[in-house]
Amino acid sequence: MGVEVRTGQRVLDVILDGVTVGTEFIRTGYVVWGAGVTATPAHRSLGLDAAPGGLIPVDRFLRVAGHENVFATGDTADFTGTDGKRPPGLAQVAEQRGVLLGCLLKQQASLAEFVFGSRGNTGVIGRNAAIFDFGKWTLKGRAAWLLWAFVHVFLLINFEKRVLVSVQWLRR
Ligand SMILES: Cc1cc2nc3c(=O)[nH]c(=O)nc-3n(C[C@H](O)[C@H](O)[C@H](O)COP(=O)(O)OP(=O)(O)OC[C@H]3O[C@@H](n4cnc5c(N)ncnc54)[C@H](O)[C@@H]3O)c2cc1C
Repeated sequence: MGVEVRTGQRVLDVILDGVTVGTEFIRTGYVVWGAGVTATPAHRSLGLDAAPGGLIPVDRFLRVAGHENVFATGDTADFTGTDGKRPPGLAQVAEQRGVLLGCLLKQQASLAEFVFGSRGNTGVIGRNAAIFDFGKWTLKGRAAWLLWAFVHVFLLINFEKRVLVSVQWLRR
């Protein structure tokens, strides 16, 4: 789509007519800044030193470092699995952590290690342009966009919202 992706380079300056990336100045009229989401400062109330990004360090059970009965979940947890991987800051990760801790709090389950079960990732660029990444296989284009729309509607909270969003999309 004519997009050039550059990684491993820091943006050093943003001015009215461009940005400086490393030693290069890129002239542009538009800059869209898509970085910089930080966690809420919950670590402060626990008197903890935050991990990078303001995250709360947790063990593999999502227990806050140094606390037996305090857990951090969702985006705010600085978690590394036993496989050495850090799950992405996505809703499905937060949801799975919530379910795990919910069962523990309701005493329906004992303390268990958090293991992220990826349901795949999807990104949508616009109408008829999306990508699904299921790890072993990917889907692109119109088929991916239709699947994305279906999944999006399916995951909405109730029937009313599903109908509302479907009608809004069909009217566009
Ligand atoms: C712009 C954007 C787009 C995203 N798009 C996607 C996407 O397309 N797909 C996807 O899977 N994920 C997406 N994400 C990530 C997703 O939103 C998060 O991973 C997910 O919401 C994390 O859930 P959470 O419960 O940890 O945090 P949140 O959903 O942020 O919930 C935390 C809640 O805690 C409340 N809170 C904070 N501090 C306090 C306090 N001191 N006391 C009481 N309450 C407090 C907040 O108000 C908030 O309601 C997106 C995130 C952003 C920022």
